[in-house]
Amino acid sequence: MAQNAEAVAFSVVACAAATFIWLAKDRVRRRTAWTPMEGWNRKRPIYKFISPEKLLVITDFDATLTTGDSDQCHDLVGFSKLLSKPFRDDFAPLLDWTTNTDIDGVEWWDRAHSYMVKHGMPPRPLIPRLVREAKMVPRPGALDMLKRLEDLGIPCLIVSAGLSDVIEEFLRQHGALSENITVCSNRLNYAGDSTPKSVSPTPPITSFTKEYAYSSASSFFAQHSTRRNLVIMGDSITDVDPAVNVPHDHCLSIGFLNSRPDGVPHAKAFDAIVMGNEGSLLPLADLLDEIAPQPSLYRSFSQRAMNGM
Ligand SMILES: [Mg+2]
Repeated sequence: MAQNAEAVAFSVVACAAATFIWLAKDRVRRRTAWTPMEGWNRKRPIYKFISPEKLLVITDFDATLTTGDSDQCHDLVGFSKLLSKPFRDDFAPLLDWTTNTDIDGVEWWDRAHSYMVKHGMPPRPLIPRLVREAKMVPRPGALDMLKRLEDLGIPCLIVSAGLSDVIEEFLRQHGALSENITVCSNRLNYAGDSTPKSVSPTPPITSFTKEYAYSSASSFFAQHSTRRNLVIMGDSITDVDPAVNVPHDHCLSIGFLNSRPDGVPHAKAFDAIVMGNEGSLLPLADLLDEIAPQPSLYRSFSQRAMNGM
């Protein structure tokens, strides 16, 4: 009798767990709207046969690993009331997109970095607070994806026109600054008094010059030269540029449209497009699950995380 009751109880628990998993997966799929383009349908089946040892992930940071409406690196510095008023007054015109159209291209970054050096902003000890108090939110699934990449030993290069110091602090605060991550962005060089004295590299990494990632991160690519299958992600159409000079056999791209009303440029630039400011990293999560399957219960939890639940 007791054995029968135990068996019934076990069946009930198993049924409940299966239902829970199914509901979690279904909810993720319904809430993550994404569209495969022709390139995805053609190239994605190849990735089924690519082992984690042959894969390399390159990703943008702002509005890609963070939600589409998050503060971006330079905004976070330029708008912060924690920084001095003279600095903010100098910086403000750069963040006013209705009047700064004459400051375009690489010049924008040069000018922004020159103000940071001129005013010694932000002081190094303030960066953790700047990041903690900013509206900078991980995209659903981003932290889970970074953890998966770490567990699988897949290197991840973050190529960003933002600021390395902010990106690394953000990752640190979320427990995601693991050894497989390399940040290729603009880095503040601090002097003994904790104020930035210069910004590297020169010229800076900008949205317009991301194809230089191959030379800027040359030691990263030299170390991982046998990984010739790329996944590249970003929210701007120039975010596919870091792969341009990287020798590879296959390259699969995922674009995040965020709240842009016109998806046509993204449809031309990327192999798959994720919609919405909070669209998750489901296309990459599915790919990783396919090449390195996880136990189904764990997967259901990770997909809950991906959906910000
Ligand atoms: Mg971006």
